[in-house]
Amino acid sequence: MADRYLHLTGTAPGRFLTRRLGLPQPAPLRRWTLETPRLEGPLLHLTAGASAVTGVAEALSRSGLPVVGDTGRPAAIVLDATGVTTAAGLGDVHAALHPVVRSLAPGGRIVVLGTVPSPDDHHQAAAQQALEGFVRSLGKETGRGSTVQLVRIPAGGTARAAESTLRFLLSPRSAYVSGQVIELTAATATPGPAADPAAPLTGRTALVTGAARGIGAAVASVLARDGARVIALDVPGAREELERTADRLGATALPLDITAPDAADRIAAAVPDGLGVLVHNAGITRDRRLANMPADRWASVIEVNLDSVLRTTDELLDAGVITRGGRIVATASIAGIAGNSGQTNYAASKAGIIGLVRSLGPRAAADHGVTVNAVAPGFIETKMTAAVPLFIREAGRRMNSLSQGGLPVDVAEAVAWFAQPDSTAVNGQVLRVCGQSLLGA
Ligand code: NAD
Repeated sequence: MADRYLHLTGTAPGRFLTRRLGLPQPAPLRRWTLETPRLEGPLLHLTAGASAVTGVAEALSRSGLPVVGDTGRPAAIVLDATGVTTAAGLGDVHAALHPVVRSLAPGGRIVVLGTVPSPDDHHQAAAQQALEGFVRSLGKETGRGSTVQLVRIPAGGTARAAESTLRFLLSPRSAYVSGQVIELTAATATPGPAADPAAPLTGRTALVTGAARGIGAAVASVLARDGARVIALDVPGAREELERTADRLGATALPLDITAPDAADRIAAAVPDGLGVLVHNAGITRDRRLANMPADRWASVIEVNLDSVLRTTDELLDAGVITRGGRIVATASIAGIAGNSGQTNYAASKAGIIGLVRSLGPRAAADHGVTVNAVAPGFIETKMTAAVPLFIREAGRRMNSLSQGGLPVDVAEAVAWFAQPDSTAVNGQVLRVCGQSLLGA
């Protein structure tokens, strides 16, 4: 499962050889640790034209980085392009970033702030949509482990709604997220940061399905780190591994097949005080080309990856088990965006998750005060991907802007961002955690 190529390019002879051969040069990513919780260096705040939202400077001042207007080597650059409403205004974007982009520190972050393209003003829509192409291209250029994203704030709104998103994007927690567009809602109830910033989920119960191993175990671990009381669910057949994981995290093990007809009732019984965070992570693959795929392989994947997610979500929401301010996070995949040969069942189930969050998000917020989002992992180093044939595995690892696979913790950090108490304005979103994979880009 180890990425030997990444190890090789971390040595001087390996770097020399792979450079001479014109091979990818993945930079080791700096992820969150207790000792290095922040990027090292200042944040450069730039503006293209007049801002169309309020409170950007205040939001950035709470990002955890010292904000400067001019610096030699920023760890992060935030360009406020919310006021760009014409093609000519795009010149301001170039003028702001062109002189400084080369000075971004390795492993740095660029975040462009935009607004939602307007259905009533095609000049504004063109200019704001242009930022998407700009950001996705810059993400492919910056290299050295740097990332680039676009955050859309409703025009006339406040950047306060973007604070949790900026904290995530401008930190080592988002190391494997690049080329993404996040569209915030104009949610009114945006509570400020948690009382204990080191443990923002204190007092919340989080349930993670498929938590015995892989991405689910990492999600359980990161939510526990953030203060949540965690219930780790997995199939009874994985009981031993589940109990080991739960013990390690101080979590409660719940051996349960999520496809069981009474799964929602059993979950409700396990959380008498309600559920603050529900993470649908359990998933399976049963790959075959459609022509060779028997009905049972099709059905089992749809059942685990999609139908059980729909059913338990509906039942837990309707029964009021998910408390107000609650968070539902489901797991899609870039296969659900790009498609994949041999995975018609899996890609259909994961695309279905995207449909679910986009449709349910706004209604769940209005009816229950709950947000619904999804992560769409790319190539993540787990048992699932270790089983992929070598050539396809290597292609999956290298065919992204960061030239390496992600780790389960990268997906977990994205889930934890969705789960933040002040992520109220983040709703109906699908965040790809894929190092800006070329697949489905
Ligand atoms: P994994 O196979 O290592 O872990 C999945 C876990 O889900 C296992 O512990 C399994 O026992 C559990 N599970 C399966 N069916 C279940 C059921 N009916 N009820 C309860 N638990 C069940 O997989 P992973 O790589 O950690 O993937 C986790 C999620 O991320 C899945 O939804 C997967 O589709 C998705 N994903 C993974 C990748 C990747 O590169 N690893 C990429 C995209 C999406």
